[in-house]
Amino acid sequence: MSTASSSAATEKFDAIVVGAGIAGLYQLYRLREMGLKVRSLDAGSQVGGTWYWNRYPGARVDSQSYIYQYWFSDELLEEWDWSQRFPAQPETERYLNYVADKFELRKDIQFNTTVTAANWDAETALWTINTDTDETFVTPYFVSCAGMLSAPQTPPFANFEKFRGAIAHTARWPREGMDLAGKRVGVIGTGATGIQVIQTIAKEVSELKVFQRSPQYAIPMRNEDYDDAARDAWRAQYPALRESVHHTFAGFDYNFETGAYLDLSPEQRTAALERLWADGSLSFWIGGYPEMFFDETVNAEVSEFVRQKIRARVKDPVVAEKLIPTHFGFGTARVPLETEYYDAYNRDNVQLVDVSETPIEGFTENGLLVDGREYELDVVILATGFDAGTGALSRMDVHGRDGRSLTEQWRKDIRSTLGLQVHGFPNLFTVAGPLAPSTAFCNMTTCLQQQVDWITDCIAYLRKQDLKAIEPSLEKEDWWVKHHDDTANATLLMATHSWYTGDNVEGKPRRLLSYIGGVGAYRQFCDEARDSHYEGFALS
Ligand code: NAP
Repeated sequence: MSTASSSAATEKFDAIVVGAGIAGLYQLYRLREMGLKVRSLDAGSQVGGTWYWNRYPGARVDSQSYIYQYWFSDELLEEWDWSQRFPAQPETERYLNYVADKFELRKDIQFNTTVTAANWDAETALWTINTDTDETFVTPYFVSCAGMLSAPQTPPFANFEKFRGAIAHTARWPREGMDLAGKRVGVIGTGATGIQVIQTIAKEVSELKVFQRSPQYAIPMRNEDYDDAARDAWRAQYPALRESVHHTFAGFDYNFETGAYLDLSPEQRTAALERLWADGSLSFWIGGYPEMFFDETVNAEVSEFVRQKIRARVKDPVVAEKLIPTHFGFGTARVPLETEYYDAYNRDNVQLVDVSETPIEGFTENGLLVDGREYELDVVILATGFDAGTGALSRMDVHGRDGRSLTEQWRKDIRSTLGLQVHGFPNLFTVAGPLAPSTAFCNMTTCLQQQVDWITDCIAYLRKQDLKAIEPSLEKEDWWVKHHDDTANATLLMATHSWYTGDNVEGKPRRLLSYIGGVGAYRQFCDEARDSHYEGFALS
């Protein structure tokens, strides 16, 4: 397959798309179908985005495969066979490569290229985009598909350089892999990523030390293999699913339970929770009872239900209590799925090191230092998360109208209009930008495709009307931010500290990064903007 070649000269394109993951590939496809000359830029050496970078042991999607896919091509839906309900990273990466090949997307993608700056010129109504390859691209439309969890966070531990072993961040896992067999391994971080790593490597390594600052409420993933009959059954449902996912709370095939939790008897409540639990998916959380997001009593009951499940899995009661969250309620931070996570702590070679009271002091030549004790390690795995929602764009040095800096703006206050545009930044479009469900409360493929479709329609409209630029007015943005905040503030999520509210990044202004009014409601707001010919947006 040929790939886009680079040249030192300034090149003009109808659109520049940043990122060649799920969103970027589809955005490239849609704009090219419209006849635009598009260049996609990606820092990686291949397509895949999240599924290219996050190749750590145990990486696996936690949306069901039959809804975690593209809907735009019947042929693709017919051709691609998912092997499991929740496929592992290599399969999703293979799928995205298959899509890139099938639709001949690679020829317009330039790999190994990081955007270093983007500047809007009001006079020409063009973006000038610079890269670390010393290239300059000029374009009217700058579409960021750079991802909501793509800017890795590495805590500033002391003496990194002293450590003689190997260190790897899960989101920058070496393509050639890492041999962990028989090694003494330390994992820092017990979010969704750390949990997947820990449950996967526990059997393989000689010693595993888990450095945990905050425990999580992990719930079971019930994975299953698909045979042809299972695949055929799902295929028969694709036409209905491709419609229905856009109207549920979180873009999955299930929606919240109808009926009030508190109207149920204690026995009915337990039965309902057990039924959701048995499904072995995120439906226990975002397909359960919405009251758990608003009502402290309901949340406390559901939290206790999950705590009991954890207690039942872990043999040592002292370790079990350490693995049980007590300082936040179930579902108020991202809920991870697990298969053998809690069982890992029943193994003799796995030790939980609680660093909640005594933080990791830093590295030594031989390992990590906690509370004056040295833990000797051959490998340290950093599962320490991301600067979510804003990180990818903030690291690009984007300057909009009158030279305003997006990085500076978001350092003070994280705002957007529908998560799709930002006041002061004409013709900048953001897929999975902050304040949209795609930042956290969505089956990603549902929301990314919906946002790409909105952006494509918008660009088509501008071209048809011979308009040069679109930008949300300040009033429009104020309206969206207020609606977003009102919705967020009515939930218990604001009381919990996690990446959802930007608390994991020092100095990041606090706001729920993801819109929590539901995918169906969000889609309606987006459709209204399009159907009103972008009322509240300045068109010029
Ligand atoms: P994360 O949820 O932000 O977890 C980071 C972990 O690192 C937390 O346990 C955090 O502790 C810990 N940590 C950070 N700094 C530390 C320090 N100085 N000392 C000790 N511990 C430290 O990040 P993530 O696990 O990479 O997950 C991010 C998101 O990616 C998930 O929530 C999910 O949306 C997505 N994801 C999805 C999948 C999937 O679809 N299957 C898989 C993995 C990830 P604190 O909690 O105390 O800060």
